[in-house]
Amino acid sequence: MTTITIDDRIGNIDIDGDGFGRRGCDWDDSVCTEMATYRIAFRQPEGSDRNEVKVFCQRHYAVWLARFITLHPLECHHSINSHIAEYGLIGSQKKLVDKAEG
Ligand SMILES: [Zn+2]
Ligand SMILES: [Zn+2]
Repeated sequence: MTTITIDDRIGNIDIDGDGFGRRGCDWDDSVCTEMATYRIAFRQPEGSDRNEVKVFCQRHYAVWLARFITLHPLECHHSINSHIAEYGLIGSQKKLVDKAEG
């Protein structure tokens, strides 16, 4: 008899709605039906203990990051690290250190 081991690391993502541990892409400029495989966790203001997490398909993850990195310096003088806590492939995302500013 064969034992099947399920790698459940995708369960690291926050489950907002369906409870199945799977989420579609959070891209909201247009409908996207791809499964999300990348995540971005945003830092929350002091007093909140949870980062807000968005999950995207590979394409929208790249588009979102490209847009954020391009537009952010025009709109804000804080570092990108001050907004994004984690990014990357779900299950192996990288953490960003929030360096002191100025
Ligand atoms: Zn997408
Ligand atoms: Zn900023």
